[in-house]
Amino acid sequence: MFQHLIRRRNTIPDPDLWREVTSGFPFLDHLAEADFERLRTLCGEFLARKQISGAAGFVPDEAARLSIAIQACLPVLHFGLAAYEGFVEIVVYPSRFLVPREQVDDAGVVHESIDELSGEAIDGGPVVLSWSDSAAEGLDPGMSVVIHEFVHKLDLLDGVADGIPPLPRESRRRWQRVLERSYRRFVAQLDNLEASIPPSVDPESAEGDAYYARLPLDPYAATDFAEFFAVAAEAFFTDPEPLADAFPAFYRELALFFRQDPLSSPE
Ligand SMILES: [Zn+2]
Repeated sequence: MFQHLIRRRNTIPDPDLWREVTSGFPFLDHLAEADFERLRTLCGEFLARKQISGAAGFVPDEAARLSIAIQACLPVLHFGLAAYEGFVEIVVYPSRFLVPREQVDDAGVVHESIDELSGEAIDGGPVVLSWSDSAAEGLDPGMSVVIHEFVHKLDLLDGVADGIPPLPRESRRRWQRVLERSYRRFVAQLDNLEASIPPSVDPESAEGDAYYARLPLDPYAATDFAEFFAVAAEAFFTDPEPLADAFPAFYRELALFFRQDPLSSPE
C-alpha cells in the first residue's frame, strides 16, 4: 500500500519539466487545455508502467523519458494505455542501431544483411528507438519515430502488421478500402516523381531530396500498408495539413480511429 502510494505520487510529471519538454513539440499547441492536461496524466501513468532503458552507453534522463512518453501517449490520448499493455520495455540507443537480418529467398538461399534503424517495434517485445531520431531537436516536420513505432504496436494488436488496427467489422472494411486506395495513389505519385528525376541527379543527394520533398508523405510510406499507416500517423499528429490535402479520406479514418482531429483548433 505504502509503495503503491509513493509510486502514484511520483507519476504526474513535474510542472517545470512538463513545460520545458512540451515546448519542444509545437504540434501539441492544437490540444485543448483539458486534453493537454489529460496527456500529462497519461504520461505519468506511462512512465510508471513502462521501463525505459538506455543501450550502448545511452542513459535516458528525466527529460528524455518524458519526451518519449509524450510522443508515445499522443496517439492513445483518447483510449488510454490498455493498447500498450502487451509490452513493458522501451530500449533507447544514442543514435541509429544495426540489426542483422536473415532472409530466405524462393530458391531457399539465405541472404544475410545488416539494417541501420532509427526505430523498431518488435511483435510481443519492446519498442527500440534511436534517441537522436526521437529527440524534439532532431524531428523534421511530419516525422516522429516514436509515434511511428508506437502506431506499429497499435497495428499489431490484432496480431498482424497490415496497416489495419483492431476495428469493428464495418469500420474495418471502410478503413481497408480507403487505406488501399490511398496507398496505391501514393505509390503512383512516387513512381511519377522518380520518373521525373533527371538521370544526372543522385536520388540520395540533397538535390534528390528536394524532389522527394514534393511528396505529401515520406517515401518510406510506399513500402507496404503497415508503413503507410505508421508514416501517415506521424504526419497526422505532427504536420497534418499536407496529409489531409493529399488523402482526405484516410485523414478522416485516422481522426475517427484516434478520436482526435489535429486540424481542429482548441475549444
Ligand atoms: Zn515502420
